[in-house]
Amino acid sequence: MMNAKYGTKSNFANYRRVLESKAEEVRDSLSKQKAAQVVSRLDIPSDEGDLSQQHHEEWLFLNRNSIDMKLLREISGALKRIDLGSYGVCPECEEDISVKRLDAVPWARYCVTCQDLVATRIEEGELVDELEEASR
Ligand SMILES: [Zn+2]
Repeated sequence: MMNAKYGTKSNFANYRRVLESKAEEVRDSLSKQKAAQVVSRLDIPSDEGDLSQQHHEEWLFLNRNSIDMKLLREISGALKRIDLGSYGVCPECEEDISVKRLDAVPWARYCVTCQDLVATRIEEGELVDELEEASR
């Protein structure tokens, strides 16, 4: 179905739809994990072995959770960029991000080249991840 509201940006309307349904999917998975977590807490460990197993599962849960949370932030950032009209343009080199990349990673902030450079700079502590920073 076409939505005339987006006018000339109708091509981004597709990405918006993809991003919104992905966000929905991640939120859904987060709430399912939360439910599973509550259920597993009801099982009181009977010995040390069970206890460490439970800790391990909690760690996996938290780890998975933070990946999902990060993804949700990336997605909402991308939706904001669609609103602002800066979607699909790399903020580092100001080049258009390729359609191929956007199709694969619709929430991509940078082009492939800059993504690698930015990731390296974050790793080396030269640059603070904007998303991490914003969440504080
Ligand atoms: Zn770039």
